Amino acid sequence: MNIDFNKMNGLIPAIVQDAISGVVLMQGFMNSEALAKTQETGMVTFYSRSKERLWTKGETSGNFMEVVSIKEDCDGDSLLIKANPRGPVCHTGADTCWNEVNSSKTGFIDQLRAIIKDRKTNPSDQSYTASLFAKGINKIAQKVGEEAVEIVIEAKDDNKELFLGEAADLLFHYLVLLEAKEIELDEVMEVLIKRHQK
Ligand code: AMP
Ligand code: ZN
Ligand code: ZN
Ligand code: ZN
Repeated sequence: MNIDFNKMNGLIPAIVQDAISGVVLMQGFMNSEALAKTQETGMVTFYSRSKERLWTKGETSGNFMEVVSIKEDCDGDSLLIKANPRGPVCHTGADTCWNEVNSSKTGFIDQLRAIIKDRKTNPSDQSYTASLFAKGINKIAQKVGEEAVEIVIEAKDDNKELFLGEAADLLFHYLVLLEAKEIELDEVMEVLIKRHQK
């Protein structure tokens, strides 16, 4: 990591993102000691300007943020930290310091795709996803067809819970099919974007 703390009066902003969902959790400042402690302990540690000392997030609440990765930005004056929060991150008790209502969970799709890819490359006996890959593309495609039929059935009723379940089933099996065909979701998005541009 190549960060010039001097250039930034000793403090640089650090943005913490949920490693699984991509939701932006909080922002704090780090000096070089805070960054070093974060790297050594694996727990996000800021320099608190109000406390005027190092502050490990969770030190009293127990809601630590476990570091997954730390990346500097293009010119080394800002940090993006991916972390797994052990509990609510905000002192108000909310999951994120930014209004949750406005935070989308669609970023989890990328994490789910990574898990699906991992089940394909490292299959285990317990994994349902791995068992799908073992059955082959035709079976997976058939499963997508079944889930599509099930969502059609649930669409006719007004049981939201059942509809959501089938919507999740369909999306999951659709992602498994893309992985089986070795097609990236971005390739599908490119088709949609091109159509939109017409
Ligand atoms: P904690 O680090 O979770 O043990 O919280 C200790 C103290 O840090 C709290 O009493 C707040 O003053 C402050 N604090 C905790 N979380 C946040 C946050 N997300 N943003 C700003 N201050 C916080
Ligand atoms: Zn920058
Ligand atoms: Zn907060
Ligand atoms: Zn289903």
